[in-house]
Amino acid sequence: MEAVRQHNWPVRVTQGYSGYGVVAIRELGIGELVCRFDGPCVAFADIPLSELRHALWIDSDRWMIPSAPARFINHGCEPNCVLGEDPTDADACVVIATRPIASGEEITFAYDRIDAEEWRAHCGDPLYAWHPSWSFDCRCGAPSCRGRVDGYRIVERGTLAPDLGSRQRT
Ligand SMILES: [Zn+2]
Repeated sequence: MEAVRQHNWPVRVTQGYSGYGVVAIRELGIGELVCRFDGPCVAFADIPLSELRHALWIDSDRWMIPSAPARFINHGCEPNCVLGEDPTDADACVVIATRPIASGEEITFAYDRIDAEEWRAHCGDPLYAWHPSWSFDCRCGAPSCRGRVDGYRIVERGTLAPDLGSRQRT
């Protein structure tokens, strides 16, 4: 699965609905790999303040500071992608299309949705709590837009990533 790392991702960074964003450069199908999150992993205390809003939890006290283009993907309340495990690298994750995406459409995933199983395993850990600096007023335009995004929404695994059942971390 080395191909995951060397993929030419079908996206580019542009002006999104909120600052920078990432858009598809061609039509994408359900289940297609859209992009990949990777970058240095550090302890929470070592995340530079300017990077805090981009940081992605990996495990225990390890947080990824994602590189471009993935770091510029905006939140969406009705997103067209989810994050999934990268079968080639436990410290990375992939962005997967959950519905057909048109060329030029902005790529989004829900920053606030979290797998119920993962939540139950870690919710007692203060490091795992929603950090106030992650809160923002959403302007994604979706009919079900939450407005103020200021905490996790816990969802069952099947809801978050219906197409990821066969993906296994190696
Ligand atoms: Zn929204």
